[in-house]
Amino acid sequence: RAAAIAAAPLEPGALADGTPVQILANVGKPADGERAIELGAEGVGLFRTEFLFLDTDTAPSVEEQTKVYTELFTHFAGKKVVARVLDAGADKPLAFLTDVHEPNPALGLRGLRVLRENEQILRDQLQALVAAGEASGAEVWVMAPMVSDAGESAYFTALARELGVRVAGSMVEVPSAAILCEQILETSDFVSIGTNDLTQYTMAADRLLGSVAAFQDPWHPAVLRLVQSVGAAGAATGKRVGVCGEAAADPALAVVLVGLGMHSLSMAPPAFAEVRAALKGVTLEQARAKAKAAVAASSAHEAREAAANA
Ligand code: PEP
Ligand code: MG
Repeated sequence: RAAAIAAAPLEPGALADGTPVQILANVGKPADGERAIELGAEGVGLFRTEFLFLDTDTAPSVEEQTKVYTELFTHFAGKKVVARVLDAGADKPLAFLTDVHEPNPALGLRGLRVLRENEQILRDQLQALVAAGEASGAEVWVMAPMVSDAGESAYFTALARELGVRVAGSMVEVPSAAILCEQILETSDFVSIGTNDLTQYTMAADRLLGSVAAFQDPWHPAVLRLVQSVGAAGAATGKRVGVCGEAAADPALAVVLVGLGMHSLSMAPPAFAEVRAALKGVTLEQARAKAKAAVAASSAHEAREAAANA
């Protein structure tokens, strides 16, 4: 620990030509904050708040939430922290939100959909996130999971603003949101792509099912074309777009994602060093050439090869 703290601070993420790419951490609990900072996180790109309440039977109070969020945010005073509101779903059931009897929970009442039906829980969480931001000095951005169109993003942004959130965004994890991303950005301050779910829904392959794991590949050109649509929407609206799914932790894919227009990449901190090094090795022009080659491929395997050879 002492050696890591004594080491020279890491430079912010960037391509060979100096194009900045923010390198952010995926975290799930306060203890993750210290490690993320040690490894050079420029902030948090995805705080999976639901992880804190997986064993809780009743909705947590505003006070209880404020306390635990402040504990995490304090590590990031002066830095950006993107907190995702509760994403209860098939893989992460919350006793106080999830109906476990749905026949097909990945396609059910999850993410923002279930929060909207339980608005007081959402209001309490937004209030706690704002209070924790004020108490810690972190720059708190808040985003909603499983947004499927601009009506949903407009709902979330309006509610977040009412409760004092300064920067309110939407996740792009449903193909409809990627296709209509420009409309979503007109009603959001930023978007962040969840490539795990975006791949699951694009390929119609349950991310929890080993027998279809081969389909769960974010290199698939169908997924990359949706990322491209998000990158184009970011450029058209001048708003920030990033990735916070596992795809960002794959160094070669990270380069392609930046070539498709992503401004930030959020990942588990152990992946930082390799991703930073890969980004440092290409110019924006080279990243765009690799992205163009990958998008034109007809399979995930071909996309990997095409990007490597471009
Ligand atoms: C994703 O879907 O890619 C994502 C970042 O969210 P989660 O993995 O928590 O569903
Ligand atoms: Mg997701």
